[in-house]
Amino acid sequence: MSEWEKLIPRPKSKFLRVKCPDCGNEQVIFSHATSVVHCNVCEATLAEPSGGKASIKGEIVTKLD
Ligand SMILES: [Zn+2]
Repeated sequence: MSEWEKLIPRPKSKFLRVKCPDCGNEQVIFSHATSVVHCNVCEATLAEPSGGKASIKGEIVTKLD
């Protein structure tokens, strides 16, 4: 690892499989989403950005690395 790489913060970002609270659709979203993520089926909000880590609105089914 070079010097400059040590200086870059690396948040432990992950992908999450989230179940839509409205229609039950499961989809994979980024845990540090920087824009609002909508359900692919009913367009309910599944995640909103909140200062780094996204605020997850649905039920987290699985965490994927
Ligand atoms: Zn939905």
